[in-house]
This record gives sequence, C-alpha cells and structure tokens, in this order.
Amino acid sequence: MRHRSPWPWVLSLVALAACHATSSVGEVPAPTTHERSVERLEADPARVGPLILAHGGQGSPASRSDGPAAAVERGFEQLEHHAGDQRAAVAAAIATIELLEDDPRFNAGTGANLRLDGVSIEADAAIMDDRERFGAVAGIAGIRHPIRVAEAVADSPHLLLVGDGAQKIAATLGLETRDLATPQARAKLERGYARLFSEPADGPWAQWDWRAHWNFETPAPASLDEAMALLRAAELAAADDGESGPQVTPDQTQDTVGVVVRTAQGRYAAALSTGGTTLAIHGRVGDVPILGAGLYAGPDGAVAATGKGEAIIRERVAARVYDLLARGHLPKDAINAAIREISPEEGVGVIAVSQQGWSAVATSQMAWAARDRDQRHRADTFIQHRDR
Ligand code: ASP
Repeated sequence: MRHRSPWPWVLSLVALAACHATSSVGEVPAPTTHERSVERLEADPARVGPLILAHGGQGSPASRSDGPAAAVERGFEQLEHHAGDQRAAVAAAIATIELLEDDPRFNAGTGANLRLDGVSIEADAAIMDDRERFGAVAGIAGIRHPIRVAEAVADSPHLLLVGDGAQKIAATLGLETRDLATPQARAKLERGYARLFSEPADGPWAQWDWRAHWNFETPAPASLDEAMALLRAAELAAADDGESGPQVTPDQTQDTVGVVVRTAQGRYAAALSTGGTTLAIHGRVGDVPILGAGLYAGPDGAVAATGKGEAIIRERVAARVYDLLARGHLPKDAINAAIREISPEEGVGVIAVSQQGWSAVATSQMAWAARDRDQRHRADTFIQHRDR
C-alpha cells in the first residue's frame, strides 16, 4: 500500500539529528520536520575526516544510545588501528556491528527477534564498501556475529547467500554459535501476538490468512492463549537447557543495528544486522541483505536504513539517498527526500555520511551515536539539548 497524499505525515516526522562533522551539538540545525526541499552545499574539505555513525534501530529509545556510543568507540579504535589500510572502513564497520550484535537490547545477534513460532530466529546481515564490494546473508540461525558471514560472502563471487548454504559457510569459518533467544525477545513477541490477534480488519495481518500460510514445523496457534502457550513452552525448554539469557529490563525492546563509516582518506562503508521484523513467518527477508534497499556505499558516501523492510525495499531507500549524496545534496535532505513515501505507521530510520557531513533521521525515536576525531554525539544528549 502506498501513501501518496502530499506530506500529511511530514508534520509528524521526527528528524533526530542533522549535523555536520564540524558542528558542535549547539550548532545542530533545527529538526528537519517540515523540510521538503533538497539543498546543495559545496564540499568543505575542513569537514571531511574520520567518522562513525551507528543506529540501534527505528523505534529504539534515545535513552539506549549508550549501545551505539560504545560501538562507535570500538569502531573508531579499528579505524585508527587500520589507518591508511584499504579495508579500514570495513574493519571499523564490522567491529561496530559486532558490539551491537552482542548487546541484548538490540534486534541483531543476541536478542534478535523470534519468528512467529516463538522459537526460531532467522538473521540477515550485509556489508558494503566504496569499491562496491557487497556481501549479505539471509535466514541464518544461531550465529553470534552474522555480520562475519556477510563479510565472508563479500569476498566470494556471490552477493547474497541464504539459509543452509550461508549456515555452512559460517561453520566452515568456525564462527561462534550460541542460543540468541532472550527472555526479552520472548516478551516482545508476546506483545506482537497480542497485536496480531487484535489487529483491525484493514490491517495487513488481518487481511492475510496467515494461518493458511503457516510454514513452521509446529501447528499455527488458533488463539492468543495458544500463542502465549507456545512462548511459555519455549521459555521452559530454554530454562531446562540452563539458559539464563542476558538481563535487560522488561520494557526494553529490540531493534536492528546499522553503521556508516568515513575514513580520514574519505573512504566509506556501511553495514547492517537484524533479526527481522516482530511479526514474520519462516523465510521472510527484509531490506537488510538487499543491495540498495537497506544499505549502500560508494565513493560519495554510505547509507544504512532501519524500519519496515518491505517499505524500505519498495522505496529503494539506500540507493536513493546515495544518488542524492552523489549529486551533492546534504545527507539530511537526501534522507528526507528518499523516505517521503514511507509513513510513520510503517516506520523508517536512516543514517548517512558523505563529504558534506552526516545525518540521522527517523519517523519515530531512534537510538544513535556518532564519533569523529574531536566530537561525540548521541541521540539522547542531542534531544535533551534540542528541548532546552
Ligand atoms: N529493517 C529490518 C527488517 O525489515 C527491521 C528493522 O530495521 O528493525 O528486517
């Protein structure tokens, strides 16, 4: 379903940040809530320098920006360690994503979303650099760092590996396996089930006979009670296995993670990792491993999206943002232009960096953090500042 009405949702768009590498938080331009036009700004070499910007997913509260903040620090260490090296941007992107994959508050690696059966997790991940080297995986299970498998694919003659084939590559690489399900992911699915069984008649899950298309080994739940019983059984099985799960507070949800990197030499990379959307049947794949949908990188910048994968694919979000960056548009304007057909109900967030600066924009709240040579920015401190 497309949302073509002229800008009704723009009024509610929350632009979480739009700032340049040399701006202090105090100089950050006002939120781009009403901005529709695309501006041009000539490149200012003084702005260009190493930068890492990471997000914790569209919908993740700004208060969780400590996750991306720790991850960009780690990424920055890698940038410095690999300074001048061809693969510096990729090494930094991987290091950043790995830390977020280990953080159970986010929907990637440990803490990834469960599928509708209440037990399975199917992870997608992708990486791309400015030499247009791209690698992605979809539908892999039980791998601590799915981004590592995507990186291995980027070295192969292929672009995207799925399911069992990707899983075997992870085994060949000797990648660490673990149970990625957490009590918090189960709690999140519980809320998802409640929405599924009470969806209004015009909602996508009410209009589609998902029970008739159920493709898991276990039978489809006939009622909310049966769905909750599925989850309780999974929880008990996990307890029997001695799994305690990383502890996070119950109100915390999980969201996809992403990063964009610019090196001192103006090289770029982008990476994403996810467990997919909250309500998903077996085999559903979103925007993350689709080149030009969830992410894009090239000589003119890097872009990483989050949110409703189906909408992001439909709008070819990352490719559109990148094309505008390549034409010299500001990141915030490029993002706003590329996501204008995605409603807040669908939900989208994008981070982007170019020679012009960087920006993080979302239709709802989104945890993010950025780090350059001299400065650190985070969604939570930015929002506090903006509200003063
Ligand atoms: N974009 C991801 C997907 O659709 C989900 C997310 O960003 O949270 O798979």
